[in-house]
Amino acid sequence: YQPWEVRKVLTTCPHCGTGCQLYLVVRGNKIVDVVSAEGPSNKGRLCVKGRSGSFDFIHSKERLKYPLIKNKKTGEFEKATWEEAMDLVASKFLELKKEYGPDSLAGFACSRSPNEDIYMMQKMVRTCFGTNNVDNCARVCHSASVAGLAMTLGSGAMTNPIYDITHHDVDCILLIGSNPEEAHPVVGMQIRKAVGEGARLIVVDPRDIGLSKQADIHLKLKPGTNVAFANGMLNVILSEGLEDKEFIKERTEGYEVLAEIVKDYTPEKVAEICHIHPDQLREAARMYAAAKKAPIIYCLGVTEHSTGTEGVMSISNLAMAVGKLGKPGCGVNPLRGQNNVQGACDMGAMPGDFPGYQKVRNPEVIEKFEKAWGVPLNHKQGTHATDVFPAATEGRIKGLYIFGEDPVVSDPDTHHVIKALESLDFLVVQELFMTETARYADVVLPGVSYAEKEGTFTNTERRVQRVRKAVTIEGEMRSDADIFMDLMNRMGYSQPYLTASEIMEEIASVTPSFAGISYERLDAGESLQWPCTGKSHNGTPIMHVGKFTRGLGWFFPAEYRPSAELPDEEYPIIMMTGRILAHYNARAMTGRTPGLNEIEGRSFIEMNEKDALKLGIVNGDRVKVSSRRGVIESTARVGVKVSQGESWMPFHFQDGNANWLTNAALDEYARIPEYKVCAIKIEKA
Ligand code: SF4
Repeated sequence: YQPWEVRKVLTTCPHCGTGCQLYLVVRGNKIVDVVSAEGPSNKGRLCVKGRSGSFDFIHSKERLKYPLIKNKKTGEFEKATWEEAMDLVASKFLELKKEYGPDSLAGFACSRSPNEDIYMMQKMVRTCFGTNNVDNCARVCHSASVAGLAMTLGSGAMTNPIYDITHHDVDCILLIGSNPEEAHPVVGMQIRKAVGEGARLIVVDPRDIGLSKQADIHLKLKPGTNVAFANGMLNVILSEGLEDKEFIKERTEGYEVLAEIVKDYTPEKVAEICHIHPDQLREAARMYAAAKKAPIIYCLGVTEHSTGTEGVMSISNLAMAVGKLGKPGCGVNPLRGQNNVQGACDMGAMPGDFPGYQKVRNPEVIEKFEKAWGVPLNHKQGTHATDVFPAATEGRIKGLYIFGEDPVVSDPDTHHVIKALESLDFLVVQELFMTETARYADVVLPGVSYAEKEGTFTNTERRVQRVRKAVTIEGEMRSDADIFMDLMNRMGYSQPYLTASEIMEEIASVTPSFAGISYERLDAGESLQWPCTGKSHNGTPIMHVGKFTRGLGWFFPAEYRPSAELPDEEYPIIMMTGRILAHYNARAMTGRTPGLNEIEGRSFIEMNEKDALKLGIVNGDRVKVSSRRGVIESTARVGVKVSQGESWMPFHFQDGNANWLTNAALDEYARIPEYKVCAIKIEKA
């Protein structure tokens, strides 16, 4: 194309939480290319997903273009008008509410959609369904961060900006349970750059990853032993007097309890639990403690455990003990997965929180929202998404509204998810494509993609960024926020139709941490990270400066507890799951990009060469993989990336999805499932 034939629309990448800025290059009404933009978190960089995977899916012939209602007799979907579909959805939810009560209904919000859509969805669930049973996919990825960091620091979000990695002379990076070169590639690039410029790198990961080759120390922990590792680091730091005594005295509480618990986690004991060398642990603790600027960056290798919240709190304890919080180039930094999963939590798609983490069990908060929204609200804590499935199977949840999530692919123990969906009286799915989950719906409503609407995403570093409409796709699809506003009116709640910018004004009016955020400021080029508490407030790049959000930082130590399911004679190998560079989650978007499918298009399982030899398996063999919950076939990749007795699978591919095998055992605080450890058996197929 020639430059004069196209226009460029500045927007935000729809894949991971890095929040890279990019231009959609539009010719006529078709997106023909993507070029990078100079955003605060990407500085002109993009990864293969952002560059190649951000537009093919928008023009896919497989897009849902009109509402569908399932014919109960034939089980087939039939084309419906919006009037028919919306009347059915509104009347059915009201009917179930009347018969079984408001808490028999639930909604899952889309962590890929803009804040404005999510805000409207949780408002619909709270005002019209009458329940706090609303959640988002953070429940299965970073809910442990939200809970663990909120308990210890007072705010469950990344403490420092991404640009700290390369802009503040970081001298050591502690990377735990995170493979950013695949899952958050532009963050990975910045870590590699910092290491190239002299920063030390400690990688804590059960698997060899790209960055472990660059690391000064790679602690190849046994999966599920993060709490023991962090306690061991603290044991070395406290016993060698490397802690920041002044910071502990001035800014924290609970130190005595911490010191008492970690004193038993000697390097020798921890080495035995974690399958590492005690001297490696000592060296890592000394390196981290001695560094002046040292961020902890972590991801789902910490959170997706039945002890996920304890893992997060242990990491928080570690950073507090050495005083590395509230300062440039430091902090505790969870890399959030989906493009707007941070925003989904911020916007109140959480069973215990209204927008801005205002608690549903706080009478003053309830009163404020009742006044703002003009209806009585439910005062009870809602049901977490992971508890909705058993509740549906047991008949306690009757109606479910799933907006832009595909739990049949992405949630653990697929059989139990399907059983739950089949137990519902009524399921609505609002989607771009006929997903695996949508097949179980009674009504499917076609929404629109990020390139067809206005809005904002909030990236992993709490930065609110604009999403702009670039094209209109032919069909009867409707903007997602409009669908919710229409349904609210049909269910008897008088909701004025608002533009995206007006919805942000409403969000700002009820959410103190968003009070200063507006389209006017964002479109004028301001880059705002919440908390942004007023029109003249410039946002908060670094949190907890001088004072933690909760006042004093709280040491909240935990004892190490083994994973819920350990290997045994029948299922002797531990399986972990994760992401790969070319794809994103259930592949609704990246799976429709031919180039990305060519890079990687099929299921595989990484196994250790010694295990493979014992089982007579060679690289490339088809293998049968089973757990107590299911059986799949995949292709073996034999090597030493994983240790003996361990294996690793991506969960993207439907030709052998790891989630048929994973364990839905839940963390007691955040109700996050244990994707990272389950026991399996591998046989030659
Ligand atoms: Fe998109 Fe994440 Fe890649 Fe950036 S790093 S281009 S946000 S997928």
